[in-house]
Amino acid sequence: MPKPESAPPQRLWQKLGYEQEAGLILHFPRRHEDRRQWKDPFACAEGEWVTTRGKIAAVKASRWRGGRACFQATLQPQGSYEGLELYWFNMPFLKTSLTVGKELIVHGKIQVVKKARRLTHPEFEIVRPDEDPAIHLDRLTPVYPLREGVGQRPLRRMIHRLVMERPLDFPEVHPVPPGYPAAAEALRAYHFPESAQALEQARKRLAFDELFAMQVLLAERRRVARQALKVRPPVRRDLCGPFLSALPFLPTGAQQRAFAEITRDLEGSRPMQRLLQGDVGSGKTLVAAHALLRTLERGQSGALLAPTETLAAQHAKNLRALLEPLGVVVQLWTRHHRPEEVPLLDRSGVVHVGTHALIQESVRLPGLGLGVIDEQHKFGVAQREAFLRKGGQPDLLLMTATPIPRTLCLALYGDLDVSVLDEMPPGRKPVKTVLRSPQELPRVWDFIRREAASGRRAYVVYPVLEESEKHDLKSATTAYEELRGVFGSEQVVMLHGRMDPEEKQARMRDFAEGRAPVMVATSVVEVGIDVPEATMMVVEHAERFGLAQLHQLRGRVGRGAQQSYCVLVSDAAAEESWARLKVMETTQDGFVLAEEDLKLRGPGNLLGTEQSGLPPLRVASLMRDLPLLHQAREMAAALVAEDPGLKAHPGLRQRLGGYWAEAADFSSH
Ligand code: ADP
Ligand code: MG
Repeated sequence: MPKPESAPPQRLWQKLGYEQEAGLILHFPRRHEDRRQWKDPFACAEGEWVTTRGKIAAVKASRWRGGRACFQATLQPQGSYEGLELYWFNMPFLKTSLTVGKELIVHGKIQVVKKARRLTHPEFEIVRPDEDPAIHLDRLTPVYPLREGVGQRPLRRMIHRLVMERPLDFPEVHPVPPGYPAAAEALRAYHFPESAQALEQARKRLAFDELFAMQVLLAERRRVARQALKVRPPVRRDLCGPFLSALPFLPTGAQQRAFAEITRDLEGSRPMQRLLQGDVGSGKTLVAAHALLRTLERGQSGALLAPTETLAAQHAKNLRALLEPLGVVVQLWTRHHRPEEVPLLDRSGVVHVGTHALIQESVRLPGLGLGVIDEQHKFGVAQREAFLRKGGQPDLLLMTATPIPRTLCLALYGDLDVSVLDEMPPGRKPVKTVLRSPQELPRVWDFIRREAASGRRAYVVYPVLEESEKHDLKSATTAYEELRGVFGSEQVVMLHGRMDPEEKQARMRDFAEGRAPVMVATSVVEVGIDVPEATMMVVEHAERFGLAQLHQLRGRVGRGAQQSYCVLVSDAAAEESWARLKVMETTQDGFVLAEEDLKLRGPGNLLGTEQSGLPPLRVASLMRDLPLLHQAREMAAALVAEDPGLKAHPGLRQRLGGYWAEAADFSSH
């Protein structure tokens, strides 16, 4: 579609989201291609990645079953008589640019189909004879992430001009361990390296800078948190004693340890900032309840923040059961539910439970002594701050079921103290986990039917809500219709993030109370939903989820006395993901799965660093660069100790930009 004429023509850097051309120096390559020598695609094995160069010998456009448009080109690599087949689906417009005789560089994974070699959806670049081979060819060539309307070659040309053809304005702004290249040199080599070694050295230097920046922010937050003083009112009554003696079970050893650690914090002269880490089902709610009571014992109020309305409502219900017998009022705050004023005479105090609605500025939480954030990885520092803004230096307890390896925990939550629930309540049966292919689904449905007949329930989860051009995935919406056919339309309900909350509540109730024993859902069921009768978790397109996320989903079952099952459905043909999913069959340990995830997918998903108020890691890998991370942590601590507030490091402050402003803002509370 033509652009409306009023839209100003955008410069290349603007299309990529930079305000100035110079911003492009930090537009890092996605990867490099070795274009000094070409691999022979016909000597490559199935599954091998190849970058090769050749001329287009023939093209063909066709339509496949299901109406998919296929554009096909045959590439004749230099010095070869065989043709490499290139396939693109749903990109019919390629026929205008990829014409016979054009010279291409292609990059893709070799498939062997009936003896022929094929690349499906390869990346490609059209070689233009008038362009500088020293930039695009004959070297380790950077391949940049693109946006619509930005071509690889013009972008590469422009970045080359910015970093290689003029002095580079990229000064040193902080100390670096000895042996690394200077900042500007590293930046150059990271775009246009002379060798693979130079590239890795440059990567390490830039990775160090990222990790150092992150650690400086954490060190500063920690410094400020340690400075604040909290005046604690005296203990007025004992609530924890009667609470613990009324519990129908004994707290686990790990829960008792957490009680003690938190109690110690809540007697101290500084506000608590503690992270409570515990696998799904390890009993974090009990620890939160205990901490809230400790606060109420001093005549202060407490609050618990949850990421979804369903979860908030569930917490309110559970906390009522636990705390109302002690005379505690539990108030629910959501977008659709504001509590009425309750006279607090003769009461032991109030606990506010809610979603984001609870921490809005307009909401006053008088006498707030403790803020608990459940599923804290779904939130960010902004929510912590919101609690702090309520005044009175509240203590903070952040809870997460995302298992973070210890080494990383220190590095990423270095501003917090940590308690770990590393012990499950007794009597929990492991969830039997099996991997199945889509062809076996009818048998899975039979099994669900039998389970449902004896009063149990099943979740069936899909990665997407709706079908789309962009992917080949079965959606929750389609599956919902299908499964209504399989089980009867009354038997199936659907739950997804875009439903309005009342609808959600109603569908949850239908499921929880057994009127509809099958729930089709997107990954919204991942967080905290608790239906003890649910014994089946089926996940279709399981390969689309991280292991830690699958583990969370699996944690939705196995909550009652019955044996529970988790069925991961994935196409066995995709061997790589099949192998990855196999791990789920053999371990129930969230930490092991998290380590696997880290190795395979990197930390982004696992840690939600985007929301952590920390700069994103674009070069550093927390797994690969762990030693670098520890070095950065030590050096950052030393720098902040020596120069609190970074007054002597304006360049670093400037480079940290908004992140620093946020950390500084955090400091002012
Ligand atoms: P999570 O850590 O995933 O938030 P919950 O707090 O929801 O876990 O606890 C899961 C279940 O385990 C709840 O039904 C809770 O009542 C139960 N539970 C918690 N602690 C114990 C314990 N020490 N012994 C037995 N059951 C417990
Ligand atoms: Mg929970």
